[in-house]
Amino acid sequence: MAKQRDKILVVDDDLDSVNLINSQVLSPMGYDVAIANNVATAIQKAASFAPSLIIASLTLQGLSGKDLLTALRSQGTEIPVIVITPANDEAQALAAFRLGARDYLVRPLREAEIVTAVDRVMTEGRLRTERVALQQQLAQANADLQQRLKELTALSNIGKAVTDMNDLGLLFARLVDGAVLVTAADMGWLLLGDEANNGQLVLYAAKNMPGRAPLRQPWDDGLAPLVMMSGEALNIGGAGMAQFKIAQWAKAALVMPVKVRDQVVGVLTVANAAAKPFDDSHQSLLGAVADYASIAAVNVRLFQALESRAKSLQQGNEELRASQRSKDEILQKVSRELRGPLGQAKNYVELALSEASKLLNERQRGHLKVALEKLSAVDQLAGDLLSLEAGTDVAQTLTLRSVRLDDLARQSMTKHQPLAQENRVALVAEFAPITVQADSVRISRVFDNLIANAVKYSLRGSEVRVRVQKGEGTTAHVSIVDRGKGIDPVHLPNIFDRFYQASSMDGAGLGLSVVKEIIDAHGGKVWAESTPGKGSTFHFTLPKAAA
Ligand code: ADP
Repeated sequence: MAKQRDKILVVDDDLDSVNLINSQVLSPMGYDVAIANNVATAIQKAASFAPSLIIASLTLQGLSGKDLLTALRSQGTEIPVIVITPANDEAQALAAFRLGARDYLVRPLREAEIVTAVDRVMTEGRLRTERVALQQQLAQANADLQQRLKELTALSNIGKAVTDMNDLGLLFARLVDGAVLVTAADMGWLLLGDEANNGQLVLYAAKNMPGRAPLRQPWDDGLAPLVMMSGEALNIGGAGMAQFKIAQWAKAALVMPVKVRDQVVGVLTVANAAAKPFDDSHQSLLGAVADYASIAAVNVRLFQALESRAKSLQQGNEELRASQRSKDEILQKVSRELRGPLGQAKNYVELALSEASKLLNERQRGHLKVALEKLSAVDQLAGDLLSLEAGTDVAQTLTLRSVRLDDLARQSMTKHQPLAQENRVALVAEFAPITVQADSVRISRVFDNLIANAVKYSLRGSEVRVRVQKGEGTTAHVSIVDRGKGIDPVHLPNIFDRFYQASSMDGAGLGLSVVKEIIDAHGGKVWAESTPGKGSTFHFTLPKAAA
């Protein structure tokens, strides 16, 4: 059915035909009809009346219907035309079709034919209009979809950045980029309250912001404090902006609170330089970005807390080290002071034992021997303490010289002979002449400690064997083998630790840690093998001196 607004222009100078078309067909069908009886009027009305269809006679006085078609075509109008041809003149109809006519009616006109032709052409027109409208809608929907896709991609990228990124500065920059992208804004920035500074707003990231405010510095656009207080998003533009500082560069702004558990910790702002307002969809998209910003803000707080914790731990650690250093220094001083008198006391006891031996009875000699043993143990301990140069790198303090390793071993064995005799332990040497590049004082200390331990932990009547041999490749290999009580495998991995004692006898658990420090400093290796009840073997290697 025709709609009221559909208009038809009838161009004919035959009154009967006009009457038939208008009064008997088009008007009853509900069309709005205009009439022209010549081409000039028709062209005028085609423009002013804007019909949806023209029904035009090809045979008009003056200019013909074909002229009308030509004129309409040259004007580029798309109005469909039905032509009326004289009877028996199909050729005219054909010519009219070539000029773009949609249909034709033959005189004498008949109502039914007019109705059919008008309906067909009008329906065609309507369909064409609808198709165009649909195409436009489709194009718009496509554009909308593309935009949504862009927004979703931006949001998902921000989501990824929030979970993946360690660099917070970069993350905040991404957030602001994303905010600007999803709201199609000209510029954007993120302000967060500085907890340490009364919640003062600090600029964390900005994009296209005029004036280049420095990052990590306090900044205020005039609007942010309002949103910090209200906790509500603010969509502002036009005259309302004028009173705020931001109005210098922007005519529209959208300000979103960044919240952590209901507490506003900052604001995310996007703005347009022109008076291009933000709508509800921009607001909800910016809200999503602000949610991500809040996760990042939590991370900032955690990060800051961690940083200050790490700082205080480091401080505590330094204080501890300093106090440990001063303790070690005192220990070393005391040890140094002890060694002189201890050495003298030992010498006198030894002298008394050898020179005055005949004047003493067995009991008195026994007492002196115990005194000598105890003095030796304390002397050994003082020596170990002196060797522990805490906090210093032993390797830096070595005095390296070419030295015969077997000589150092021999000296140490001689030194321990009295103790060995006392314990009924035989000291056996198996030496090859080996020269090493070493600190002789330090390596003597290693022999002293290992031989003293071997004697100390040996069974009476057993032997301690000291081997100095060529090692594998360019190393020298020393082993000290005893047939003592051995070391439980549970303790074996720890015996080189400071103050570690597998079984408590005299000593402080320092000797082996001193040994390890010295051998490590020389670039050698030290280790122990032991079978409980059968004895232990302590090994160390040293790089041999270059030939
Ligand atoms: P300590 O002053 O206790 O002897 P060391 O550091 O010299 O300290 O030795 C650590 C521990 O290793 C000792 O307490 C002892 O239990 C064990 N140990 C060391 N050498 C021997 C050995 N030759 N035989 C058995 N146990 C040993």
